[in-house]
Amino acid sequence: MRIKNKISLFFFTPFFLLMAVIIFMVGWLSFYSLMDKSIALLQLAAESYTEHIDTYLSQNIERFKLISSRTQLRKLIANYNSSPDAATLAEITKIIQDAKQPIEEFERLCIINLDGTVIASTNSQFVGRNVVDKDFFIGGREDDGVYFVEEDGVYKIFVSGPIVLDGQLTAVGISVVSIDKLSNIVKSVTGLGQTGEVTVAFMGADGLRKYPISRRFDYQSLSPQQESAKTAQPMKEALAGKEAVFVNDLDYRNQKVLAVSKYIDNFQLGLVAKIDSQEIMSVPIALILLLVVIFLASLVVYYFIVRFLSWRLTLSISKLNQGAKEIGRGNWDYRVKLKDKDEIGELSRTFNKMAQEVRKSRAEVDRKVEQQTKEIEHKNKSLENEQKAMFNVLEDVEEEKEKTKVERDKIDAILHSIGDGVFVVDKDLKITIYNDISAKLSGFGVEEAIGKRYDRVLKFIFEDDGQVNDSFIKQAIKTGEIQEMANHTLLIRKDGSRLPVADSAAPIRNTHGKIIGCVVVFRDVTKEREVDKMKTEFVSVASHQLRTPLTAIRWTLEELAGGELGRLNDQQQDYVNQSLESSERMMNLVNDLLNVSRLETGRLSVEPKPTDLAELVGGVIREYQPVAKAKKCRIIFNTSKPKLKKINIDSSLIRQVVTNFISNGVKYSPVAKDSVVSVSLSANKQEVIFSVKDSGVGIPKTAQSRIFEKFFRADNVVKMETEGSGLGLYISKMIIEISGGRLWFESQEGKGSTFYFSLPLSGSKKIKGEKGLAG
Ligand code: ADP
Repeated sequence: MRIKNKISLFFFTPFFLLMAVIIFMVGWLSFYSLMDKSIALLQLAAESYTEHIDTYLSQNIERFKLISSRTQLRKLIANYNSSPDAATLAEITKIIQDAKQPIEEFERLCIINLDGTVIASTNSQFVGRNVVDKDFFIGGREDDGVYFVEEDGVYKIFVSGPIVLDGQLTAVGISVVSIDKLSNIVKSVTGLGQTGEVTVAFMGADGLRKYPISRRFDYQSLSPQQESAKTAQPMKEALAGKEAVFVNDLDYRNQKVLAVSKYIDNFQLGLVAKIDSQEIMSVPIALILLLVVIFLASLVVYYFIVRFLSWRLTLSISKLNQGAKEIGRGNWDYRVKLKDKDEIGELSRTFNKMAQEVRKSRAEVDRKVEQQTKEIEHKNKSLENEQKAMFNVLEDVEEEKEKTKVERDKIDAILHSIGDGVFVVDKDLKITIYNDISAKLSGFGVEEAIGKRYDRVLKFIFEDDGQVNDSFIKQAIKTGEIQEMANHTLLIRKDGSRLPVADSAAPIRNTHGKIIGCVVVFRDVTKEREVDKMKTEFVSVASHQLRTPLTAIRWTLEELAGGELGRLNDQQQDYVNQSLESSERMMNLVNDLLNVSRLETGRLSVEPKPTDLAELVGGVIREYQPVAKAKKCRIIFNTSKPKLKKINIDSSLIRQVVTNFISNGVKYSPVAKDSVVSVSLSANKQEVIFSVKDSGVGIPKTAQSRIFEKFFRADNVVKMETEGSGLGLYISKMIIEISGGRLWFESQEGKGSTFYFSLPLSGSKKIKGEKGLAG
């Protein structure tokens, strides 16, 4: 709702309510005061009419009495009764005519004999009529009284009474009194307005109410229905002798009336004075109407005044509103022109100031938007260019993708045609590529393998203890170097059977060199194992068979060299010595071969005994001092203090390893005065560590991964033409591993090597084999 309307309503409503209350009160008060006034008037009128009627009727009775009591008349009637003759009758008639003459109200006078026959009358037409059964005759014999008698359709007042002579009833006299005078009195009464009415009634002998006098209507027009209607309540009450006031009772016209009832006791007449309620109401209604008109007129005036005031009051607000709208539309230059010194005027000034501020910041925003739009346009352009470039790149990528697909297909084809099992795992160890041979060797189909972690499908274990052996895969991913599968690895196939396998895992790097997985190659080595076994067995048999003749040859050569078979000249001695050396080397080789075959076939027994390792090492050093001396080399032994406790090891096996390390150290050291082979023995809480350090030829990097292979000798030592079979380290590694230790080395070509082994302080486990070391 607009403020203007609110203000109008605010002023309008109380005015409206006040006026409504005033009109109601005025109407209400005027109605009730009029009602009271009307009742008083009606009562006054009723009182006055009652008096009039009473007086009128009583007066006429008195007049009648004056006539009927005339002695002459009474005597004449008595005479006539005793001897009726015309002269007497004429005299009687003359008397009553004379009596009537001066009394204007008397219409006629009659004398009725005791038989009820009219004997004399001022109006001769009534003479001879018999009224013996009429009330006025019957009542008249007794006493003077008034009777309303219907005669020719008009009520007349009959005053009748006895005519007595000497206490003897001689006749009944009647004076017929005009009712018009009485009616005129009633009708002439003023002060009861337009509808005021006075009615007089008496109770007829037939039980019906009769209305001889009425101000407004003639009794003839009142129908029996009207007569008996429930509407005539005030008259019923009046005839019952009650004097009361009736408000809004229905009269014979079915109109609401205000009525007052009276009873005229002397004549048993009921009187009702009444006035239409509508007439009484017409004054307050007119008053109310007048007030309503005044009210409406003032309402209109008031409306315009209020509208004007509210318009004036809201004018400033409207201007402010207009200003807000204009600024809202973007018309920032618009200013509210208000000079009022009130709060609204102040508000308009604040508003203008605000608009000015907003204009400024808007200009700033526009400037920024423009600048940003330019930047965006610029960026859009470069984006478009980038998009174009992108499309080109995408095209290239598509091409590359196509190429990659071709390459991948090629790789797939190659992988699937490779004779070895090949599978690729990502860095989460999930199989991404899996060739047919892998499926064939493992028994797990391609669908079963792809997407799964490889160790859920392919289980690699160590042949000897059945432990999982897949560190080579994890190591390849971790270290980024190719990892060989450990010797004697088995693959558990899908059907549970075990397949000897061999080969390696190689890391895969992305273009940035980051390791993203590894490729594992494995092959069935069942046949290789068999061949190896056969080879080992052959070597075993051959070396075994060689040992006996070699022993015989050596023995013979020793005897020859010792001169026990005769003296040899120098040349012969030289030859025999050389042959003896060769046979010893051959014997060593045969022993090594035998030991290899025993180790590989697991026939070598390990019999640990408490051993003083330092003493064992010291013994070997002493043994090798002459050889070292010959090379001008020194062997230094560093052992930890306090002395190491004895540990439970197979001394003959460990001696073999110590010998191999020290002999290699001396062998691969240069022939130089200051060359040193440094031997050391130390221990920590778990193990004892033995090492031999030399500053000799070292091992080339390329050869380092193969150093523990059987018969392997690095190129640099082969060139030196040093003696050696390439079996020493192979045997040493196997010995240390079956003794529960580890073996490793550090080396740099041309600078020297350090070989280490460790043994657990807890000692080695006993292994029940067939033989000990050959040697
Ligand atoms: P060999 O009889 O050839 O010494 P080994 O098994 O003892 O056989 O050693 C194998 C190979 O390891 C050697 O041929 C040599 O190439 C290398 N090697 C072993 N020890 C040393 C060392 N101390 N310095 C340099 N190379 C060594």
